[in-house]
Amino acid sequence: MEKSGKCSVCGKEKRLIGRRMCCACYHRERRRGKLGARPQESFIVPVDFTPMAFLLEELQKRAGAELREIGPQILWELNKNMGAGLGT
Ligand SMILES: [Zn+2]
Repeated sequence: MEKSGKCSVCGKEKRLIGRRMCCACYHRERRRGKLGARPQESFIVPVDFTPMAFLLEELQKRAGAELREIGPQILWELNKNMGAGLGT
C-alpha cells in the first residue's frame, strides 16, 4: 500500500503507510499506544436505521422526553432490554 497523500496528523504531503498517516506520525502514534489492539473506535458502530426507521423515530421521541442525546438513549434502551451491566 504505497500511496501519497495528506497525512491526517501532521497534514504534510507524504507517503502514507497506514491509517492515513505518514511514516513518522504512524510510528509516533503507535509508540503512544494509540494504535493498540483495541482502539477506541472499535466501540463505535455506525448504524443504518433505514430498514427499521420507526425504531429511530421512537428512540428520538424517547430521547426528547428524557432530554438525552440519541446516542446515550440507544445505549440506555439496549442496556434495559438486555438486562446486563449497569442497573437502571
Ligand atoms: Zn504525518
